[in-house]
Amino acid sequence: MNTKQPPTFIADCHLGKLAKYLRIMGFDTLYFSSIDDNDLIALARAESRTILTRDRALHERKESPSFYLQPISNLAQLQALQNHFHLKKYQLTSRCLICNITLKKIEKAEIEDKLPPKVKYYFSEFETCPKCHRIYWHGDHYKRMMSIIHAI
Ligand SMILES: [Zn+2]
Repeated sequence: MNTKQPPTFIADCHLGKLAKYLRIMGFDTLYFSSIDDNDLIALARAESRTILTRDRALHERKESPSFYLQPISNLAQLQALQNHFHLKKYQLTSRCLICNITLKKIEKAEIEDKLPPKVKYYFSEFETCPKCHRIYWHGDHYKRMMSIIHAI
């Protein structure tokens, strides 16, 4: 395994929230709310991704490049991933929670008219998704996610 390249993942259908955590940490993580196991495996193999799953049957299939997650809580799942993949050694830029694309910094002046008044007042650093143009700021939701990530 090339240790310089950060690992890439596909989260299976039950791990949507974990996928969002991984994206905010910057890891390229695909997620489909519904996908056939065979398609999931084919995609993982084609793109050299690790399937993250809590489905033992899927994990035990020989052709399945998967990592089995025993824990139920997101925090414990992240801890298990940290132990196995050493996620923390990678300093990555966050990805769009929806599109899985790396966010770009954007000047407040460019987007000011699109911001809710409170956000405009309280925040000064923003990032945007090049695909869906969703704007991210370091608000409460982001802080909550980061505090969980920092706990691992
Ligand atoms: Zn997006």
